[in-house]
Amino acid sequence: MDFRRLEEATKKKNALKGKTALVRVDFNVPRNKDGSISDDTRLMAAIPTIKALQKAGAKVVLLSHYGRPKGKPDPKMSLDFIVPALVEALDDEVSFSEKLSEPLISTMEPGEVLLIENTRFTELETQGDRGMAEYLAKHADIFVMDAFSAAHRNHASSAVVGEILPAYAGLTMERELDHISQVLDNPKSPVMGVVGGAKVSSKIDLLKNLVAKLDILVIGGGMANTFLFAQGHNIGSSLCEKDLKDTALEILKNAKKEKCKIILPVDVVTAKEFAANAKHKQCGLDDVKGKDMILDCGTETVDVIMDAMDSAKTLIWNGPLGAFEMSPFDTSTVEAAKYAAKLTKAGKLISVAGGGDTVAALKHAGAADAFTFVSTAGGAFLEWMEGKTLPGVEILRK
Ligand code: AMP
Repeated sequence: MDFRRLEEATKKKNALKGKTALVRVDFNVPRNKDGSISDDTRLMAAIPTIKALQKAGAKVVLLSHYGRPKGKPDPKMSLDFIVPALVEALDDEVSFSEKLSEPLISTMEPGEVLLIENTRFTELETQGDRGMAEYLAKHADIFVMDAFSAAHRNHASSAVVGEILPAYAGLTMERELDHISQVLDNPKSPVMGVVGGAKVSSKIDLLKNLVAKLDILVIGGGMANTFLFAQGHNIGSSLCEKDLKDTALEILKNAKKEKCKIILPVDVVTAKEFAANAKHKQCGLDDVKGKDMILDCGTETVDVIMDAMDSAKTLIWNGPLGAFEMSPFDTSTVEAAKYAAKLTKAGKLISVAGGGDTVAALKHAGAADAFTFVSTAGGAFLEWMEGKTLPGVEILRK
């Protein structure tokens, strides 16, 4: 994908010296009950871009949302809690202001960092208001988008401002775009997908787009039950969206037309209660009865998935293959993820994962670090995989 990269703004010596860069980051980090940051992945993801701009002599103005404050100031959702962690990560001073203003910018020295209060303290942000974007833009010279996880929203500070100012992808955004386009736009084939998770209803667009693009698609997790039901299998008391039977059949029909091979479970692990270490059995599809709930794929299915991985050059993964939070129903997710990690390490597979519970599932399997790339984004990753246009990416296209 051809998009404007930060390097294009920083490469000419002194081009950004004393200039103001508005940088959209994602500081929407998870916190513990005492307010401390429980996972600083998103914070750390912003550091390389901030440092690159500091080095280029820019005045760095950071914009981020935090939580859902309903369009008005809410002290519980102030971004001031980020400042100490940011100071530590940058090993530099950071100022904080409720509002962007001309006097504030004019007193900043090149390389200084200023964080602005939660962009969602006004409803204009989520409305994608042009006036708000223009107000932000008039204080700056360039816009740097480094919040891929917010790129699917047409908000004032993450997309609209980039229509006004020259807009560049930050370094974290650049990595996301390069890796995701590597697997979806111009991949080494055969390309394989693994889609799991609870429900078909939340992933209909995703499945429709993937069958048109991939060579092999594994459908696992609770959503596979709906497909098995549609094919006439008894799924007992398993999670299933029976009203989506026709949708499931249509997806299977399209897959055939598009020559995308679908892999569904051929054997399963069932239990009569949805609980960790519940009494369980592994069985063929014909042996699922009355109160049985399918909570994981069986070992034969895992073998089929691993064989398919052997034949693939590119893998894209979203969602767990079973109820992975509960042992032993994490087994197929863990085994398949470990195998993908092994093939990736051996240089045989390009593996990219993201969205929702996927990162947690791969971390649980100890496989996340070996994947070629694991996206930090949830909704934005899914929307990209669904083939949708992301406003925060469109502004960067050449
Ligand atoms: P999602 O957010 O759609 O990716 O769904 C993830 C959730 O799906 C996880 O909490 C899993 O426990 C759940 N899940 C996966 N497989 C099953 C299954 N066979 N039955 C019920 N829940 C499942």
